[in-house]
Amino acid sequence: MDVKQILKDAGFRFNKQFGQNFLTDGNLLQGIAEDAGICGGNVLEIGAGAGTLTRALSKNADHVVAFEIDRNLEKVLAITLADCPNVKVVIGDVMKYKVQQVEEMFNGDYKLVANIPYYITSPLIMNFVEHGNKVSSMTLTIQKEVALRLAAKPGTKDYGAITVAVDAVANVSITRILPRTLFYPQPNVDSAVVRIDMAKNKHDIADHAMFRKTVKAAFAMRRKTLVNNLMVGFKLQRATAEQLLEQCNLPLGCRGEELSTQQFVELSNALVQMGAN
Ligand code: SAM
Repeated sequence: MDVKQILKDAGFRFNKQFGQNFLTDGNLLQGIAEDAGICGGNVLEIGAGAGTLTRALSKNADHVVAFEIDRNLEKVLAITLADCPNVKVVIGDVMKYKVQQVEEMFNGDYKLVANIPYYITSPLIMNFVEHGNKVSSMTLTIQKEVALRLAAKPGTKDYGAITVAVDAVANVSITRILPRTLFYPQPNVDSAVVRIDMAKNKHDIADHAMFRKTVKAAFAMRRKTLVNNLMVGFKLQRATAEQLLEQCNLPLGCRGEELSTQQFVELSNALVQMGAN
């Protein structure tokens, strides 16, 4: 199937605003479906584009729901997915849907697979990580820089609030790096495929809202110590913040970026215990 020709024949114009950089290499698309571990079951795709990844997913899945914001791709998708009866295309902005509404489209759990536009990467990931109840994994083609942040280790420059927020409830691995030359049209950055396997009970988090607030506060001013950031974030006296760190066996001069996810869990559980808010 010559997707570039189909796009041309349909008079399709790429819309930069929607992050339209398509993948056309059949082996790569099949590889992404394999990275996602699709073997029957339900798949949610976000951003169907010309339907190239959708086709690869439909081969291995029982049922695929594919969102696409750009109405101009509807007739292209009607052609490229004509022989994929297990695919349901939803033309619309996925960010306007509650995760729960999306999940109602499936009977049981599902895997999320997407080559997502850069402008919605972080909100989309956080939305499904925080509110997804039936999503078992997410295999996402994203900007390489963001993938490195998601898979970063404590104490490195890439380690940040999003690393900890995702690592607290999931296991992250980078499955492949995709040079920009593999996309049509070619973007200005390289990408990577990241697989996020949900493991909601991986840590014993007493209060998820408090956990999120603790992580946010710890990274609010990266160059400040954790004590200083906690004093600001939770309106604590220095002595109280220092006592908290001692209770959690953390060095008084440490910075948020040095803490592992488990240490963040212990810190936020201690904050819950002391009645902080
Ligand atoms: N899956 C295709 C592929 O791999 O070639 C297309 C990927 S392209 C990077 C991202 C796609 O997401 C575009 O087709 C774009 O129109 C669509 N898109 C962008 N924002 C969206 C949104 N909020 N909801 C649904 N689709 C969106």
